[in-house]
Formats: sequence, structure tokens, C-alpha cells
Amino acid sequence: MTTFEALGIDARLIQATDELGYVNPTAIQEQAIPVLLSGTKDFIGLAQTGTGKTAAFGLPLLHIIDAAAKYPQALVVCPTRELCLQIVKEIELFKKYMTGVSVVAVYGGASIGLQIRDLKRGVQIVVATPGRLIDLIERKAINLEQIRYVVLDEADEMLNMGFQDDIEFILKNTPARESTWLFSATMPPEIRKVSKKYMSDPKEVTVGKVNTTNKSIDHQYYVTTAQHRYETLKRIIDFNPGIYGIIFTRTKADAQEISERLTREGYDIDALHGDLTQQQRDRVMGQFRDKSLQLLIATDVAARGIDVAGISHVINYELPDDVEVYTHRSGRTGRAGNQGICISIVHAKEMYKLKQIERINKSEFHKLDIPSGKDVCRKQFFFFMDKLLSADISHGDYETYVPMLAEKFADVSKEDVLKRVAAMEFDRFLKYYENAEDLNLRSRDRKEPGSREDFGRRRDDRNMGRGDGRKEYARGGGYSRLFVNLGTKDGFFKASFLQFILDMSDLKKDVLGKIDMKDMNSWIEIERGAAQQMIRSLDGKSYKGRRIRMNDADSGGPAGYSKRPRRGEG
Ligand code: AMP
Repeated sequence: MTTFEALGIDARLIQATDELGYVNPTAIQEQAIPVLLSGTKDFIGLAQTGTGKTAAFGLPLLHIIDAAAKYPQALVVCPTRELCLQIVKEIELFKKYMTGVSVVAVYGGASIGLQIRDLKRGVQIVVATPGRLIDLIERKAINLEQIRYVVLDEADEMLNMGFQDDIEFILKNTPARESTWLFSATMPPEIRKVSKKYMSDPKEVTVGKVNTTNKSIDHQYYVTTAQHRYETLKRIIDFNPGIYGIIFTRTKADAQEISERLTREGYDIDALHGDLTQQQRDRVMGQFRDKSLQLLIATDVAARGIDVAGISHVINYELPDDVEVYTHRSGRTGRAGNQGICISIVHAKEMYKLKQIERINKSEFHKLDIPSGKDVCRKQFFFFMDKLLSADISHGDYETYVPMLAEKFADVSKEDVLKRVAAMEFDRFLKYYENAEDLNLRSRDRKEPGSREDFGRRRDDRNMGRGDGRKEYARGGGYSRLFVNLGTKDGFFKASFLQFILDMSDLKKDVLGKIDMKDMNSWIEIERGAAQQMIRSLDGKSYKGRRIRMNDADSGGPAGYSKRPRRGEG
């Protein structure tokens, strides 16, 4: 087995990695570090999170940058704020014994002023998310003229999130770039394209299996009736006592509502949606990350950028429309070589959609019976008993109490003690599930076969628990057509765009008709009575630092034409 010394790493870095307990380099480190240390090579590392890839690029970067030169020499671009902070944290640890080296994180959702101040102090390594970096470039607040090394970390995630244009823009704006190091867990064709265009003869290293779809995820689904969706969700959670998962909903209203309802019922859950301030978001994410929160419920837009290790389950409260969105959701679990489960709750009308996702995703989906009340109780019971048996009793001063306990329990049998413990723990479950109904969709429930056409138009169980005074739009007859200066170039897929406009406006999907997306603009059909609410909620707001313009496309004026110059054009 190789050592870090043998790879040629600076002694000060080895001292730091020693202290971190790194004895031998991981596979990706062993293969990447010598290549990267040799200077001007392009490199592709196909490796997942958890393989040690941060050190695989972080150590050589620290080794080769010029600590005496106080300008940015290396740029690491990664998809999320969380990952950005994590990379900086690790690099800080590695450079413990190096003086004069600075690394700074720049990411969205935090004060740009403070980040500009940090950059001005003279840093050698910048770790950035694409959106904020471009903002800084456009403000001329960062100097990329002398960047020699660019690392693209989790490149596939960045493309998934729609950052392809941004990445290309960044690569085009690093004129002194000598080396481009690209790390990715998968190798979709888009990444090949980027690498062909911007890298020359890259050395490619693969660690573990690389697939376009993640085979370590078990895709499962439960079929229920529309009105039982919430109850089914609860039962799935109860049936998986050790669950550490993310539940996805299509709208923020659902995320909020389900979260509140589950919290009231004693579940350990919080919601992540667009209405939270950065501070609230950080608090929720912090709790989820340190596992003081077992479940997170989120919309796709709000979950952008979440990168948490060890997620056991992803639950689709409803299926998304786009396969890409499904892949993105399910990819939150089964990472770093761990097994993960992605569960979808579907009802009869959604089966065709599930089959479509299954086909495109090229993975088999497993239909499971929704557990009965008895199944849940049994599962909870054994989970608790396992916990009881594995409780650590080596530290406490338990021995002193044993004689007293023995006396107290002299006339109680071991079986009775167990029963009593179980009763205390399971009373709630047993009572709740005593007469629990069968939630599986049986043939008797199918009053009429679902038609594809009415999908997305019906007023369905997404309105669960409504009628609570939530503001309702006036239902006028007919549709309006709205214009908005957002399009696919802004990184939207149709489903994420839909969700974005619904989240912003607090409207429900069934007010929408056809959506026509182009590169730069989109046209939205919307029920007339809801049009003004949509315009009021979006027009004038900002998206990625740009002002959104939305108006009625058919009422004359400048609708349908955007004069806004786009970055990277012209
Ligand atoms: P990463 O894939 O960079 O997120 O790293 C996953 C985890 O492995 C991190 O907690 C690192 O601190 C740890 N790690 C990285 N390299 C090594 C190594 N050579 N030996 C032991 N642990 C490591």
C-alpha cells in the first residue's frame, strides 16, 4: 500500500493528514495526486462523495500553489453551498502547517459584501458555487486572470442543476487555466461534451462503479387511493423506525402543511421551502445534518443544493413530472457506496408516469404492499427491542442499583418486565393501529380507470386538509397567457420551472394550462382568475440576481420580447 510520502506530497501537508488520521491514501487519491502534482495535466476523476476526493484535489492544490503570490491561483467550483463550506473546511485542516495560504468560500445566500472583502485580502484558492461566482465576475469583484487550476467538483450534479452554461462561462473566463480537474460520480454525455471542449487529453481515473443511473438505490412504490396519500406516508415512516430521510412534495404549501401535521402528531420533521430566510434554512439544515431532525420535507427548488451524507430514504409524496427530477431526488440517497431506498407513493392514475420513469431510468421499480397496522407494530417492537439490547451499560453506575432493582422486581417475571416496557413504549402505536384500515389500492377501489388526459387538471388530494381559510383565487372563466423572461437557459426544466412559479405565487398546479418554454422566455397559460396573483408574485422579483419580468402576453405592450442581454452572449 502506498503512503502520502511516496506520492510526493509536501511534508507539512503530511503532518496535517497524519493528525487527521489518514494513514494511507484512498484509491482516488493514489491515482489523482501524482497526476495533479505533475503540473499542467487535465484530469477526470469518476468518484463518488466519500471516496476522499476532496483531499485528492485539495492536497495537490495546496502543494502547487505559490503561497507568496497573493492572488487567486486555483478555483474549485461545486454545486452547493454546503459542499462549498465542506471543501473549505477540509482544505483549512490540510493547510494547518502552511503559512500564508488562504482559501475562501463564495456561495449564494450569504452577504456578497463580506465575500468581496475576503477576496480582497489576497487569497490563493477560491471555492465557489457557480451562480455567486458569476455574480462576482460580473461585478468585477474577482480576478480570474491568473487562475491556473480549475477543479469542477460533482460536475454531474452541477449539470443536473442546470449550471451547464455557467460552467462553460467560468471555463471561458479563466484565460490562464493550465489544468482542469473534473470530478463526477457519473459520466453522462453532457460531461463528455464539456470535457472534450475544454480539456485536452485528460487522464481519466475511475474509482468503483460508474453508472449513468445509481444501482445502489432500490426503487420501491406503494399504490394507494388519492385520499390515503397522507396516511400512507405516515405508515411508511412508522414502518421504518430508523429512517433518516427526505420527503419531496411538488408545492411548498404541501411541504409546509404535511410538516405541520406530522409535527403535531409527534414526528421529528421540518420543512424546507422558499419562504424561509437563509437563517431559518441554515437552522433546519443544521438540525437535519446533525440528525437531531429525522425527516426533512422539501420542494425540489428548496432542496437544491442539499448534500447530506447517509440519507436512508427518499420519499416521493407525489411523483414529479420529469424523469430528471426523479433522478435528482433519488440521487440524494445511495451515495458513497451506501445502499439507499427511494419510495414513491402513487395512485392508479399515476401508474403510467411511474412506468415511464422506470423505462427511462432503466431500473426496475418494486411494488410493495402498504404495511398493515400489525406489520408496523411488529416492526416498531423489534426495533425498540434491538435498541434495548444494544444499549450501552458500560459507563453508568448501574451496578449500584441492581440490588435495589432486584428487590423491587422480585415478584415480577422477566416476561412481565418486557411486556411492561413494551406497553410503555408502544401504547401509542398499538392504540393507533388497533383498527387500522388497509391502505392498499384494491380492485374494489377502482371506481373508474384513470385517464391520462385529466392528470394535472383535477383537484386532487394535493389539497389535503385545505378549506382552512387559505387564500383562494377567484375562478373566472377561460385562460390568460402570461409572458415571463425566464427560460431553459436559466437552468429550469419544465417541472422545476412549474414548481418555481407555483412556489412563488402560492397557487396550485391545476390553475395552469399549457407551458411553453424557450431558451430565454416562457409562456404560461393560467386560469384568468389566478393570472394577477401570479403576476403580482413574480413580476419585479429577482432570480439569480436578475429582475423577473412577467406580464399578460396578449394585452399588448412589450410582452414576448426580452431585451435583456444575457451573460456570455455577444
Ligand atoms: P470526501 O470524499 O472528500 O468527502 O471524503 C470522505 C471522508 O473521508 C472525509 O471525512 C475525509 O476526511 C475522509 N478521508 C479522506 N481521505 C482519507 C484517507 N486517506 N484516509 C482516511 N480518511 C480519509
